[in-house]
Amino acid sequence: MPKLKCCICKKEIIPNKIGWGRGNNALPVKDGRCCDECNWSVVIPARLKKVKMDKKELIKRLKECENKGNEDAHIEADELLLQYIDDKEITTIWNKISSKFWYA
Ligand SMILES: [Zn+2]
Repeated sequence: MPKLKCCICKKEIIPNKIGWGRGNNALPVKDGRCCDECNWSVVIPARLKKVKMDKKELIKRLKECENKGNEDAHIEADELLLQYIDDKEITTIWNKISSKFWYA
């Protein structure tokens, strides 16, 4: 698989400890993939400023992602979760869902 470059800092995206090499969705900063560093320092702060989705809607969508169980669903769920990164209930649900993706 060819290595991706971060669309923000232009450095190569290095696979993380679980072997995920596709980086992170850089929206709403840029339409592309970004490295973990830019994700934490630029993209997440930008997202947290956006209005949060209704929590019931979020849980419904996370469950839909869980049912799909593929890579795209994982990316989508990850992005949904970012909106509620401080919420314990959502984090608990996500931990259950994400274990299916990592250990399927
Ligand atoms: Zn970067």
